[in-house]
Amino acid sequence: MNWLDSHCHINDKAFRDDLDTVLENMVSNDVRKAMIISSYIDDYEFGFSIKHPELEFKHSLGVYPGDVDDTDEENLKRFEELYQENRCQAIGEIGLDYHWGKENRERQLEVFERHLIMAQKLDKPIIVHSRDAIQDTYDLMKKYPVSGVMHCYSNSAEMAKEFVKLGYYISISGTITWKNAREPLEVIKVVPLDRLLIETDCPYLTPAPNRGKRNEPSYVVYTGKKICEELGIDEEDFKKQLNENYHRLFRL
Ligand SMILES: [Zn+2]
Repeated sequence: MNWLDSHCHINDKAFRDDLDTVLENMVSNDVRKAMIISSYIDDYEFGFSIKHPELEFKHSLGVYPGDVDDTDEENLKRFEELYQENRCQAIGEIGLDYHWGKENRERQLEVFERHLIMAQKLDKPIIVHSRDAIQDTYDLMKKYPVSGVMHCYSNSAEMAKEFVKLGYYISISGTITWKNAREPLEVIKVVPLDRLLIETDCPYLTPAPNRGKRNEPSYVVYTGKKICEELGIDEEDFKKQLNENYHRLFRL
């Protein structure tokens, strides 16, 4: 069995110069699948040009919460058309982000709600970004039952249980390997193994021991191994479980 990265941005400009090496690193580190997440249509289209005979890429598109002020009705319609296509495996990352302020909270809620309604209508899983906005995120998600994953989950174990009850998956990023990690270590203990995923969110959130460098999908192995060590589970079993979860969630 192989590792996988359930959330990466290798279509980002940060990878344009050495993408081939990044893909080779995936192969040599036994990371064979990745979900490529796009917030912009150009990046999304570029994502489909990323190919390697030993790697399997899937694609997700969504309006990033930080971009809602620049998203008008025409944009939303264009995104919705793309969500309907079969090549769009999931809608996201979408959600709420109050980290930089709450001035546009209403607009963020409106765009997120529209996306939840679209996801219901199109019957597609969602990939949720939630930063400093967990209660609003939860309240809205509870109102519109769909399937999906809480990406880079960085809240309490208590809230993680609530999202699991709603049917969501919880994805753990490289922050679990950081020295100051506390909550992710608690989260993995309360989330059932059949609801866990791992991700890099690269180029961001580089796991130890590479913290400070650009992140890339092959580093997801550090996160996977850390979880196995903490939970005392077998790596092969965990990889198998992750693959099952990934296929079930994204209906592959
Ligand atoms: Zn992301």
